[in-house]
Amino acid sequence: MYDIIIVGAGTAGLSAAIYTVRAGKSVLVLEASAYGGQIINTPDIENYPGIAHISGFDFATGLYNQAKDLGAEIKFEKVVGIETDGSEKVIKTSQREYRAKAVILATGARNRSLGLPDEKELVGKGISYCATCDGMFYRNRVVAVSGGGNTAIEDAQFLSNYCAKVYVVHRRDKFRADQKEVERLKAKDNVEFILNSNITKLISDDMGLTAIEVTDKNSNDVKNIEVSGLFVAIGQAPDNSSFENLVKLDEKGYIEAGEDLKTGTDGIYTAGDCRTKSVRQLTTAASDGAVAALAACGYIDSL
Ligand code: NAP
Repeated sequence: MYDIIIVGAGTAGLSAAIYTVRAGKSVLVLEASAYGGQIINTPDIENYPGIAHISGFDFATGLYNQAKDLGAEIKFEKVVGIETDGSEKVIKTSQREYRAKAVILATGARNRSLGLPDEKELVGKGISYCATCDGMFYRNRVVAVSGGGNTAIEDAQFLSNYCAKVYVVHRRDKFRADQKEVERLKAKDNVEFILNSNITKLISDDMGLTAIEVTDKNSNDVKNIEVSGLFVAIGQAPDNSSFENLVKLDEKGYIEAGEDLKTGTDGIYTAGDCRTKSVRQLTTAASDGAVAALAACGYIDSL
């Protein structure tokens, strides 16, 4: 029986762990895959207040070690469901059951796919969702990045350092990414922007991806661009289906909660990118972790 079980060891979950152990609670963090969440793949963070530059890996590892050293227990097990038993919560993982007085859901979000035929089959054979992880395989090759957010622009910047050419294919001519980063990328000689365009087909042979078909949304012109790799960076979607009977999800599957990060279910809190919110940033993930942690501690103290 733990005071608090936190589902997810990304920035929100580990920040919540730091706050809850420091409040004297017994804390278990359950993580389905690897610690760190999405930020672990970011090559360079330069918008976290007080830290001018840090790699996503160093940031996430620091957070993980900080939570562990302070006394949080961290186990790598996938949570498949949560039930309430009176005021206790029963957390079922793929391996066993745990009990806690309160739960913080910090499940983050996973990469969205383009939904094109063969996209899944070509993962590892030309399609990637992580430039930092797979970019080196494309040294001196021609690649494309799909998306117009910070991830796509950062990925393109990273890839342009060692790929022969990088195409950035974006469905609009306005970017969600920070303007400064877009301008920095535009200054690169080996980067070409293809705007107002969708990737409509993946072309491959036995070895893997060879080209992408791109359709201009305004003119309907279709052209094939030869690439060895396509990095899909079109945002994330939540993965909260295991909790749909426990908490209220919005129409996109994000967890609904108030400003105090309480869900509609007693003793269940949420934090980070898995919840309905307008700004999904590293700072807001860390901030959510603190808010949910203190709310959960207050709930336990009132039992
Ligand atoms: P994002 O900001 O949601 O951007 C997703 C991009 O993909 C948008 O340009 C969107 O186009 C496009 N897109 C979405 N669905 C598409 C589809 N089906 N087909 C083609 N294009 C599609 O996602 P993100 O870039 O991964 O960033 C997520 C959050 O993390 C953001 O808040 C971002 O600022 C933050 N982040 C921050 C940093 C940093 O500060 N260092 C680094 C990475 C990410 P539209 O614009 O037309 O919708």
